Amino acid sequence: MTELELLQAVRAAAKSLRIRCCYTGSPVTGFPDLVLIGRAVLFRELENGASEVTSVQLECLTELHVAGHDVAIWRPADWPGRIFAELDAIRPL
Ligand SMILES: [Mg+2]
Repeated sequence: MTELELLQAVRAAAKSLRIRCCYTGSPVTGFPDLVLIGRAVLFRELENGASEVTSVQLECLTELHVAGHDVAIWRPADWPGRIFAELDAIRPL
């Protein structure tokens, strides 16, 4: 599963759960790939199985975490179990 295939899977799952899925990734600012908005907000960086986040991505993820946000990296191995569970937890009522 490539990062693009993971992105497509996450988008479809979010839509099915009525979660807003905003693709926001920026290699310049390191902003995470996705902001997912439901009963809570998740910031998620998507990576393929082997890739590592860049230093600027790690800085941005850390800053968001320190500011109190729910931040994580999702990889193909997290699909569907972990990812679907985290999405389901913020599904609008
Ligand atoms: Mg990415």
